[in-house]
Amino acid sequence: MGCANREGKLSLHSNVAPYVQKRNCTGCQICLRWCNYQAIVIKDKIAVIIEEKCVGCAACIPVCPEGAIKNRWDASYEDVQKRTVEYAFAVFNEKKEKMLFINFLTNISPACDCYSTSDAPIVPDIGILLSYDPVAIDQASVDLVNKAQGLRTSRLKKAFGPGQDKFKDIWPDVDWEPQLQHAEKIGLGTREYELIRI
Ligand code: SF4
Ligand code: SF4
Repeated sequence: MGCANREGKLSLHSNVAPYVQKRNCTGCQICLRWCNYQAIVIKDKIAVIIEEKCVGCAACIPVCPEGAIKNRWDASYEDVQKRTVEYAFAVFNEKKEKMLFINFLTNISPACDCYSTSDAPIVPDIGILLSYDPVAIDQASVDLVNKAQGLRTSRLKKAFGPGQDKFKDIWPDVDWEPQLQHAEKIGLGTREYELIRI
């Protein structure tokens, strides 16, 4: 996703613009100040998101004091996951001889790093992973997080035990697995891996 240009990011996130729950919006305009894409306007004292301009970055969601901005948790998220790996695949094909992937499994917060705020880690720090395979390293990362003991001070609701799916516990409407399945299907890498600890 990071390698996509602005038009690419728009295409990636198209159909995932959040929406404003009218009954909760006070028209305070805080969300307008946080949107870098001028995608929110005030109409009849209520915020309205202009879908054609919205890139789906979600920056407006946590800043709304009324909790009035909501994500559309529907099948469109699977489409975003697929498009994300397809963009990665295009870049990977051009540069794979020069690519090494590094995942830092430290300070693992419950939400995406594009949010303007962070939250308490959901599991203790695990370490740093290296791989030449972008799919294997992500699969290993998911597995290591889910195998870890969940932290009771985090947003986890009940998946504290080792082996329980921490991501589905926090985001029950978003399944992470289609992204890795699609990545493997199109040849970006393999979900099989051997973990060598050093
Ligand atoms: S921040 Fe929330 S309450 Fe304020 S205008 Fe935006 S949607 Fe409405
Ligand atoms: S999701 Fe991002 S681009 Fe869309 S309205 Fe919110 S802040 Fe603006």
